[in-house]
Parts: sequence; structure tokens; C-alpha cells
Amino acid sequence: MDLDTIRDVIVARERADLAVVGGSCGVLAGGTFLFSEPQEELDRLVDISALGWPALTETREGLEIAATCTLAELSGAGAGRELGVEEMRADWPGTALFAQSCRALLASHKIWRTATVGGNVCLSLPAGAVLGALVALDADALVWSPDGSDRRIPLREFVLGPGRNVLTSGEVLRSIDVPIRSLHARTAFRKIALAPLGRSGAVVMGRREVDGRCALTITAATTRPIVLDFDGTPGAAEVRGAVAAIDPTLWFDDPHGAPDWRRHVAGVLAGAVAAELRTEVGDEQ
Ligand SMILES: Cc1cc2nc3c(=O)[nH]c(=O)nc-3n(C[C@H](O)[C@H](O)[C@H](O)COP(=O)(O)OP(=O)(O)OC[C@H]3O[C@@H](n4cnc5c(N)ncnc54)[C@H](O)[C@@H]3O)c2cc1C
Repeated sequence: MDLDTIRDVIVARERADLAVVGGSCGVLAGGTFLFSEPQEELDRLVDISALGWPALTETREGLEIAATCTLAELSGAGAGRELGVEEMRADWPGTALFAQSCRALLASHKIWRTATVGGNVCLSLPAGAVLGALVALDADALVWSPDGSDRRIPLREFVLGPGRNVLTSGEVLRSIDVPIRSLHARTAFRKIALAPLGRSGAVVMGRREVDGRCALTITAATTRPIVLDFDGTPGAAEVRGAVAAIDPTLWFDDPHGAPDWRRHVAGVLAGAVAAELRTEVGDEQ
């Protein structure tokens, strides 16, 4: 839709061009959310899509995903990548969550090619499955502050509630860094929705690292991604106990599922994810 409050769109070419972000000047990435409803509080946008950030970069520590990386690029459906995603998948089983989480979004291929990872993270919706996958992979966010400094935030601490996160006025998400131990981890994914093509009611993603440590991340069912950490792959009773101990006020309530239903199905999915990760442990022995 046309945003009739917008008077100016600036195409950023370098970091200095981001100095105007803040207040009534918003960040424009893919625009799939921004142009979907009125943005009364904004009169100016800074388009970050021409900053030339490589979508996916292998680093010594792991994988850097630019905020402007599209969902198509992340899932391996896009072209022109710096790093072959197929190649990554063979070496890094953890990347299986990329495509699985992109598919969990209720979106067309047109949206996939335009929507960005940074937009999904910064929108901070419970249904932000890509955000959830990156939390499940224990990623960090690199944030550019308006005074020219940078700060790093564990992504599990980024979201405060539905549509709310730790970014302050003028801050821009630059990238998400997935550590190498998570890329080497085995993962499992489960999703449920009230309708076959409906928005996710609950998504659970599991990660089992090479040293045996395990984490289950619950999203869509909760107001923010919830991470349950375990020293080893948890048994069914341990999973049930951990899900039961989640603060009851965190179960999300909207037309895509009531809180009690979400708590129940998240528990079932978490049990299934843990069982899949346990099976792999057995297979390796
Ligand atoms: C049909 C349809 C289905 C959708 N389904 C889902 C769904 O299932 N789950 C879901 O979570 N979302 C969904 N969305 C919403 C949205 O499309 C996605 O979350 C998408 O990933 C947002 O990315 P974008 O690049 O288009 O963000 P934009 O629309 O450009 O921006 C989204 C918000 O993030 C801010 N922002 C973007 N990038 C940055 C950055 N680098 N630093 C700081 N702020 C930034 C923007 O200012 C804006 O407030 C859907 C949208 C459509 C149209």
C-alpha cells in the first residue's frame, strides 16, 4: 500500500547515511511489513538494501548473516550468494533450520525474495520463525548504534514481547552471527497450526551440540522465543518438567491459538523434538 505519511526515502550507501534513523525516520528493508499497513508515526524512511552487505559470509567464528539477507537467500532458494548454501548444509547440519523456518512463515515466494532476516528479527513477532531459528542456533545480533559504536546482544535476549525488542531509537541491526558449534549441531524442527495453511500456533526447534549440550527453543506459542537449556539430551519427563515451569503469562493469546492449547501442543512438540535428538544420539553409538 502507499504510505501517505512518508515525505522522503533515503537510499543509504554507507554507514554515515544511517545517522538520520530514529524518531519519525524508520528503517526500510524488504518493506513486506512496512508497506502492509499504515505507518502513521513515520514521515521518512532509510532504505538499507543498497548498502551492499554480503548476504552470507563464512567467518572464523561461524556464519555472518547480513540483516539484509533475504529469506530466499537464507533458505537456499536465491541466487548470487557469496557462499553456496548446499555446500554449507553438508558440513553444517545446523543450517537445516534455515529453510525449515522460512517455510514456517505464511508467505508467498514473492515475499520470500523480498523479506529480510533483519526485518523478521526486528519485527519481533511471536510468528517470527526465522528469528526463532536463529535463537535456536544461539546466534548473536550485531547492532550499529547512532553514535558510531557497535554492540552485540545474544539473540535470545533481543525480543522483549510481541513486536518489542531491545533496539533503541536510531539503532540498526547489522548482522546475525551463528557460532560454529551451532552450525555443527544436529537440529530438529516441529510446527503446528490450527489450520493446514494457517499461521503457526507453536514451533519448537532443538539443537544438540557435538559435546552433547542441548537446547529446545519454543516460539509462536509464546510472546517471545523461550530457550530451555539442558546439559545433555533431555528425556520425556525432563522436557515435560521444563515446559511446565515456563512462566504462565508467556503463553501467547491470539486468533491462531489459545494460551492453554499452545502450552499443551508446545509440550507435545518439545517432546517430539527431544525424542528425535535422542534417536540420533543412539544411532551414533
Ligand atoms: C503475506 C505475509 C505473510 C507474513 N508472514 C509472516 C509470518 O508468518 N511471521 C512473521 O514474523 N512475519 C510475517 N510477515 C511479516 C514480514 O513480511 C516478515 O516478518 C519479514 O521478514 C519482514 O522483513 P522485511 O525486510 O520485509 O521488513 P520491513 O517491512 O522492511 O521492516 C520490518 C520492521 O523491521 C524494521 N527493520 C528492518 N530491518 C531493520 C534493521 N536492519 N535494523 C533495524 N530495524 C529494521 C523496520 O523499520 C520495520 O519496523 C508476513 C508478511 C506478509 C506480507
